[in-house]
Amino acid sequence: MNRFSYARASDVSDALAQHRSAPHAAFVAGGTNLVDLIRVNVERPDCLIDITRLPLKSIDATPEGGLRIGALVTNSAAARERTIVERYPLLSKAILAGASAQIRNAATIGGNLLQRTRCAYFYDPGLPCNKREPGSGCPALEGVNRMHAILGASEHCIAVHPSDMCVALSALDASVHTDGPNGPRAIPFADFHRLPGERPEIDTNLAPGEIVTAVELPAAGFATHHAYLKIRERASYAFALVSVALAVELDGDAMRDVRCALGGVAHKPWRDFEAEAMLRGMPLSAAIVRRFAGALVRAAHGRRGNAFKIELVTRAVVRAFEIATQRDCRSE
Ligand code: SF4
Repeated sequence: MNRFSYARASDVSDALAQHRSAPHAAFVAGGTNLVDLIRVNVERPDCLIDITRLPLKSIDATPEGGLRIGALVTNSAAARERTIVERYPLLSKAILAGASAQIRNAATIGGNLLQRTRCAYFYDPGLPCNKREPGSGCPALEGVNRMHAILGASEHCIAVHPSDMCVALSALDASVHTDGPNGPRAIPFADFHRLPGERPEIDTNLAPGEIVTAVELPAAGFATHHAYLKIRERASYAFALVSVALAVELDGDAMRDVRCALGGVAHKPWRDFEAEAMLRGMPLSAAIVRRFAGALVRAAHGRRGNAFKIELVTRAVVRAFEIATQRDCRSE
């Protein structure tokens, strides 16, 4: 572990100013992932800027009828907030599917977005890893890759994003509010995380020194027909092999709107907007749901340890439709 200094920021401008004068600093709030990474020498900031006192802890209605969740709201507080439970239960359920109660009590909404992959090679500085040491190689390609990506991966990295919450935020078409050297901006959720490509060391499209200030949910919460289905090795405190965040709006038997995000399969929560568009206006039937599930994995690429995920995704998506709509989607 390298030596670092510690500083406390009083507001967003103070945090940004402190980062400008220490460009190798890291912002820390709950620290539930960052501190682990510092301990094993994967992250080596020369300064930790403590942002826990920034005024980013409120959950407020937006003029457009949505909800703005401050970046320092804890995962636990967000999951039990009455408006989120009633209007955005998909988000509440996804948060509660992640980590342990103790971690959710400390982890923040902003930090959840920025947590890094749990690929075991990434956490072992004794081994090569393109994400930790660009150009060193990716042992997961031919090694232990049961948890790894089947969609959107590259020959440089096949890691997956570990968050449950982000899968729900993706399905809800959230946006991420930030502040930084070029001022405040809002990033659509689909553009916030990156695929690995040739630069797997970069997880998000945040600029250097930019800070997450809030997550905004649009008005549509899909409270009536939704499902968060997480398939994992054991019932609690395990990352997803595959997860599905599904939001459906029905008009009688027709699907007026469908949003489906997948977790555990890619370097970011995976949406297939083309496949979703095919469902709009279509009747809800077992055949159409199965065709949609197959379309989601048409470009999937499995490896020795994770090829089972391709079939698992199709089954999980069909099951998520059944949970969300209370209809039988397996037989006609
Ligand atoms: Fe590193 Fe990514 Fe390969 Fe894992 S999958 S070893 S994080 S480059």
